[in-house]
Amino acid sequence: MKYIIVTGGVLSGLGKGITVSSIGKLLKSSGLRVTAIKIDPYLNCDAGTMNPYQHGEVFVLDDGGEVDLDLGNYERFLGENLTSDHNITTGKVYKAVIEKERKGEYLGKTVQIIPHITNEIKERIKRVSEKTNADVTIVEIGGTVGDIESMPFLEAARQLRREMGSESNCVFVHTTLVPVLSTVGEQKTKPTQHSVKELREIGIQPDVIVARSAAPLDYEIKKKISLFCDVPLEAVISTPDIDCIYKVPLVLHEQNLTAYLLRKLELGERKTDLDEWRKMVETLENPKHEVSIAIVGKYTHLKDSYLSYTEAIRHCEAALAARVNKIWIESETLEERPEELEKLKGVDGILVPGGFGNRGIEGKIRAIQFARENKVPFLGVCLGFQLATVEFARNVLGYKDANSTEFNPETTHPVIDLLPEQKGVKEMGATMRLGAHKIHLKPKTMIAGLYNSTVIFERHRHRYEVNPNFIEVLETHGLIYTGKSEDGRRCEVLELKEHPFFLGTQFHAEFKSRPEAPSPPYFGFIRACLEYRKGRTEGKG
Ligand code: GLN
Repeated sequence: MKYIIVTGGVLSGLGKGITVSSIGKLLKSSGLRVTAIKIDPYLNCDAGTMNPYQHGEVFVLDDGGEVDLDLGNYERFLGENLTSDHNITTGKVYKAVIEKERKGEYLGKTVQIIPHITNEIKERIKRVSEKTNADVTIVEIGGTVGDIESMPFLEAARQLRREMGSESNCVFVHTTLVPVLSTVGEQKTKPTQHSVKELREIGIQPDVIVARSAAPLDYEIKKKISLFCDVPLEAVISTPDIDCIYKVPLVLHEQNLTAYLLRKLELGERKTDLDEWRKMVETLENPKHEVSIAIVGKYTHLKDSYLSYTEAIRHCEAALAARVNKIWIESETLEERPEELEKLKGVDGILVPGGFGNRGIEGKIRAIQFARENKVPFLGVCLGFQLATVEFARNVLGYKDANSTEFNPETTHPVIDLLPEQKGVKEMGATMRLGAHKIHLKPKTMIAGLYNSTVIFERHRHRYEVNPNFIEVLETHGLIYTGKSEDGRRCEVLELKEHPFFLGTQFHAEFKSRPEAPSPPYFGFIRACLEYRKGRTEGKG
C-alpha cells in the first residue's frame, strides 16, 4: 500500500484536484490500482448542506454521499466509482471522535488533537486503501498550507509517512503558483519558496513540486525552485494554464512525472498506455461539427455549480467530434423580460438542469414550453424533468395552476409532490432520496435505445416526484413516463410523443458520465442537437 499526499500552497483554486486526478490517471494507465481521497478541512460533515454558489456543485456518489466536486473529477479521470468514505471532512472526523469519547472508548484519557484526531484521520485514510485494495492511494489535502483548519490533516500526513517506514511508501506532492509580475515580466518563485518553508516547518519535505503558471516555467525558474526548495530538477513540474483539463495528464507525462513517481514509489518500470486518452483529447481539439445549446439555470454566474453537466457535455463533444457552444441563460431573466426568449431562437437544444427553490422557476417553464412547441431538442434533469411535467400539465392539459408543491403548496393540481416518505420531514438534507437506484426502462422507447438496456442504475438527489395520481391523464395526452423505479411507482424518465427529442430524467445521469463513455441521455441530446442544426441549415440552404 503506497500513498501520494498532495498539498497546496500560495492560493486555493490552483487546480489541485485536477493534478490529483491526472496523477491518478497516469498511474492507472501504468497498470496500477489507484484510488483517491479528498480531505476538506471544513466543519460540515458533508457537502449536502452547502450552497453551490460558494463551493460549486454538490457531487453525488453511488452510495448517496454528497461530496465535494473534486470527487467528480477523480471519478471521471480514474473511471472508478467512489464512496462517501473517500471524502474526509473535519466535521466527520470530530464527530466520530466526540461520539467515541461519549461512549467511553478512550478509557478516561484526555482526548486531544494529537493523537486522537490525527489517529482518526490516518485510520480513515488507511481504511479506504484497504477497502479498495489500491496499490496507490492519492490523498488531496484541501485548503492551503498555513491554514489553521488543515493543520491536523498535515500532521496526520507527516505521521503517516513516518509509520510507512520507507520514503518509497509515501510521496509528497506540493502544488503552488508561480506568478508573473507584469512590470518585469519575470516568473517569481518566492511564493513557492515560502509555502515550501511553511511545509518544512511542520516536518514535511515535498518530493515533487507542481507549479501552476500562465506560461510554461522557464528552465532557469525550474532550476531555482529545485535549488531553493530542495527538490530534484526533474521533480519540478510545470502546469501552465490550459483550456482543457483532460490535457493535464499528458502535460505531466511529457515532463516524465509518471516515471519519476514510479521510481520514487519503487513500483518498477512500467509502460503507460495513454493512447485512447490522447485520441480523446485530439478529437476535442479538432471538432468537425458545431452546435449551440442554451443552459437555463439559476447559478449560471458560477460555472462550477454545473460542473458535471458541462463535463458530460464535453464527453459528448469528444464522442461526436463536435464543439458545443454553451449559451448560459439566467432563468429569472426569462421571467422578467420575455424578449429574452429571443435568445432561444438561435439555439439547437435546450438543457434545463436541476435545482432547488422558487427563484427562476417560471423562466425555466417558459424555456421548456418553447422547446416543446418549436420542437427544439430538450433535456430536463431532475428539476428540469419535474418542470417539464408542470409545463405540460399547464399548457397542454389546461391545468392553469399546475405546479410542484415545492413552489406552490396550495395548487389544485399538484403534479409534482413530496416523496411520500418525506411528508412531515422538516430538515432538507437528511432524508433526500440520494444515490444510485435501479431503474426499469420500457422496452423500445427512446431512452432504452440510448442505454441499449432496460435496466440501469443512476444517481439521484431529490425530495419531490411526479404525483402518481396524474400519470394516466398526462400519458393519455402524449407525455409518456418511460422509466420507473424498481417498485414501479416512481417516474424516472419522460418522453414526448411527436417531438424529435424531448427527454426528462428524474435522475442525474451527468454524475456517471466519463470522458471515454459519455452518459447516454447527454449523448442522445447532443446528437439530436446536431441533427436539428443540420435540418435547420439545410432548410435555409
Ligand atoms: N427541487 C427538486 C426536488 O427536490 C429537484 C431537485 C434537483 O433538481 N436536484 O425534488
